[in-house]
Amino acid sequence: MTSMNVLVLNCGSSSVKYELMDMKNSRRLARGLIERIGLDDAVVNHHYLEGEDYKDAKLVREVKTHTQGIKILFELLTDEKLGVIKDFKDIYGVGHRVVHGGEHYTGPVYVTEDVKNDIKECIELAPLHNPHHLAGIEAIEDLIPDQPQVAVFDTAFHQSMEPSSYMYAFPYELYTKYGIRRYGFHGTSHRYVSARAAEMVGKPIEELKIICCHLGNGASICAIDGGKSVNTSMGFTPLAGLVMGTRSGDFDPMILLYLMGKESLSQCEANTLINKYSGLAGISGVSGDFREIIESCKEGHERAQLAVDMTALRIKHFIGSYAAQMNGLDLLIFTAGIGENSVELREYTCQDMDYLGISIDKEKNKKARGVEGIISPDSSKVKVMVVPTDEELLIARETARIISERK
Ligand code: ADP
Repeated sequence: MTSMNVLVLNCGSSSVKYELMDMKNSRRLARGLIERIGLDDAVVNHHYLEGEDYKDAKLVREVKTHTQGIKILFELLTDEKLGVIKDFKDIYGVGHRVVHGGEHYTGPVYVTEDVKNDIKECIELAPLHNPHHLAGIEAIEDLIPDQPQVAVFDTAFHQSMEPSSYMYAFPYELYTKYGIRRYGFHGTSHRYVSARAAEMVGKPIEELKIICCHLGNGASICAIDGGKSVNTSMGFTPLAGLVMGTRSGDFDPMILLYLMGKESLSQCEANTLINKYSGLAGISGVSGDFREIIESCKEGHERAQLAVDMTALRIKHFIGSYAAQMNGLDLLIFTAGIGENSVELREYTCQDMDYLGISIDKEKNKKARGVEGIISPDSSKVKVMVVPTDEELLIARETARIISERK
């Protein structure tokens, strides 16, 4: 019987995150992270299934390219001791997370030369991501050329937005000439989490109005009406919207022009200012890591508290605006590192929202740390939920589906 092992890859500039899943029973066989690609001392942290338990292994090796890194990954996966499969042929297919698919894709696709060209075309829109996804796809072509590959785009879920949601009020020609519009990101997460939440409440997603808050280092909110994304807070780039770890989120663009003049900032310096020195890190002066911010708040650090208050207020604004756009709200979901774990941020965000039918039960909220749960009182009009995201599982499922349909 052919295996249904799907390898999921998320290739970044100097890292490859991987997961091998047996889709016959949705079981994780191995997962891990190769970091510091390009250096002599790249690190591979490998977790693998042995019997019923997961074990850890760590390797330090010279890894100059993504192809080399993925070659080491294959050695690990088929290793006599640390491995979980006998042969590369035991991999049914490879699914790649691809950040930007532009306006080409509304769903996952089988990787062909045309698809690769489209991903290449979107490099201008996602220079920090798409080149590395392509490198990953090409590494697989080199190493296991007969194995099918699927691309799953972060932008695809948001292609259902109407022009009134995705257009910016610039001269229209800038849209046709340069593709200046809202694309939105984290689509795989928003899609997975909203579908799972609908399952949890036992209702068809087609009948639900959902707001999903994906709050990690990068953060975005999505309005999902009847299972379709109708608006989202990230925009042309992942800078827009919420206050993030080191990204500013929305601001008056004139500020940037003003500062570029005042401080003689180059385009590169301006880019670094809004992407790397802003957000929680910039306001608090403490850190871009939410756990550290919360610790500082407990010690009475005023700017850390300001950073948390601004974050919660910005989320609240989006919830209000999306409830207005959808003319209602059934489920409000929190996910990703901060959303799944921060009892405090969920509490601050949901304070004084009873006008919208949103409230949380403090005890239920406290218990839901990194686990699925409904944290609103039974009487609440809107169900407030914690749903851990699992983008890899969705990518693996979609990869298996696309390949099976083609066979
Ligand atoms: P990304 O995938 O965007 O890099 P994650 O979804 O892993 O980010 O989220 C990382 C964020 O989650 C960090 O700011 C981290 O501090 C925060 N986080 C993780 N665990 C907790 C926790 N227990 N309490 C509060 N914040 C947490």
